[in-house]
Amino acid sequence: MPSEIEWLWMPGYTGEAWNVITGCTKISPGCANCYAERMAIRFKRDGGSYLPGKAEINFHPERMDYPARWRQPRMIFMNSVSDIFHDEVSDAQIDAMLAVVFRNPRHIFLALTKRPQRMVEYFGEWAWQQDNTRDRIEDRVRDAGSLAPMVWPLPNLWMGVSVENQHFADERIPLLNQVPAVIRWLSVEPLLGAINWGDLLTSVDWFVIGGESGPKARPMHPNWVGEGITAADAHSIPVFFKQWGEHRPWVDVLDEGKNRKVVEVKYKRSRHPYGWKMVKVGKGEAGASLSMAGFLEDVRQDWPEYGLRYGM
Ligand code: SF4
Repeated sequence: MPSEIEWLWMPGYTGEAWNVITGCTKISPGCANCYAERMAIRFKRDGGSYLPGKAEINFHPERMDYPARWRQPRMIFMNSVSDIFHDEVSDAQIDAMLAVVFRNPRHIFLALTKRPQRMVEYFGEWAWQQDNTRDRIEDRVRDAGSLAPMVWPLPNLWMGVSVENQHFADERIPLLNQVPAVIRWLSVEPLLGAINWGDLLTSVDWFVIGGESGPKARPMHPNWVGEGITAADAHSIPVFFKQWGEHRPWVDVLDEGKNRKVVEVKYKRSRHPYGWKMVKVGKGEAGASLSMAGFLEDVRQDWPEYGLRYGM
């Protein structure tokens, strides 16, 4: 089933999620409203009632050959309802997934993690110089009948980390820079606070940013978005602004006199003066127009290597 994730639909590619691993556990504030852990919890019978047990991380070997079956080029999000570098995913399972990436060069695979420490450990043994990782993956590829030499970093594997605030931007992006990748990308979604980007973006190639959707979504201050886009622009990094999320900025002509649910989101601390009125209208109506915040109308990022032209 093609994916509904907008940023997977690059020109010439069909967007797809490849969920060989399902299930996850929450690790940081960006996870608060994620359903992956909830879906993974198995309920255990206890007398007359059912009690929640541990979330189960499952590996689905029967899904390993899906990319080989997809004939047309796809942008494939690896494990959209899990984390490829979760502690309970074994090195051998990661090896096996990367072997599939290697054997299917017509597709682009996107790995995304909130656990970059594990990612660094996985590649850290690494790899192309030190043997362990490379040998393990090469063995699997050979087992599958391919004798083609491997090229590192894999040209069709984009490595990404997800960051939601200053703390995790500072922690995760430098770790992303330590792993081999042709493209390093950030998912800044849901963006939950102001981030001083400083030099964090110097090795980043692509930037996806957006607000939170769902019934318990937290609003995103427009200046947080603006600063992210401005920082990306300063480094010539293409930006994909995915969505405002459940809340969009208040717009007089749209909202005056209407019975809207309004929340004020502060730029930083609750007593910080720069609040912005946000209106809860639902993800569909909120859309992804930056001009709603009254600025950034002219931002436009191109990514000619991938045929991209993002109009903001
Ligand atoms: S790491 Fe990702 S998939 Fe896992 S709980 Fe957090 S947001 Fe959900």
